[in-house]
Amino acid sequence: MILLFTLFVNFSYYKWQADSRFYPLTSLILCFILLFMLKAVFPGSFDPLTLGHLNIIERASAIFQEVAVVVAENRVKKTLFSMDERLEMIRETVKPMANVRCYVWDSLIVDFMKREDIRIIIRGIRGMDDFSFEFELSIMNRALYPQIETFFMGTDPKYIVLRSSSIKELASFHGDVSQMVPALVADALKRKFSAPVN
Ligand code: ADP
Repeated sequence: MILLFTLFVNFSYYKWQADSRFYPLTSLILCFILLFMLKAVFPGSFDPLTLGHLNIIERASAIFQEVAVVVAENRVKKTLFSMDERLEMIRETVKPMANVRCYVWDSLIVDFMKREDIRIIIRGIRGMDDFSFEFELSIMNRALYPQIETFFMGTDPKYIVLRSSSIKELASFHGDVSQMVPALVADALKRKFSAPVN
């Protein structure tokens, strides 16, 4: 696909030598190719993955050449699912998306980005609260690694109220979460909260 585009750009450039009206077209296509060749990282706790997270992953995978979903350790939050459980649920869910890779990472996300040579970080935004938090985080990340940019993606309105913490609470009272998380996550939540408490 990229090869075909490159050939097309070269051909347009060749035509432009004789006709300058082709210039805007070649620039547009070059920009598209460059964006398409970029990799991005989508980090989070994903405790557990929700349909809101999944929507961001799907939309990002349609734009970027590769999306790395990173289950990042959060030393402040106590999680319900282990890192491996979260990774496995995401891996299984994103299987149909060939350009999405899944990782776990227990250090700063900028170190992961340096290791993988990725310069774009994606964050999902549900509203102003998310934005002010994410904006500060983006400034902090850029202070640590000035070559990176944060791309904010607004949630689909269908998922605006989806939050892993509220979903876990609902599931703990055996509420129906099947419209909020992928089916395999709903099953895993059911199993977690039906296990006898020691
Ligand atoms: P949370 O516990 O808030 O779900 P995560 O660390 O798992 O937090 O979230 C990872 C990223 O996904 C963050 O950028 C967060 O804002 C975003 N996100 C979480 N839920 C949604 C949603 N329903 N729609 C869009 N983005 C979301």
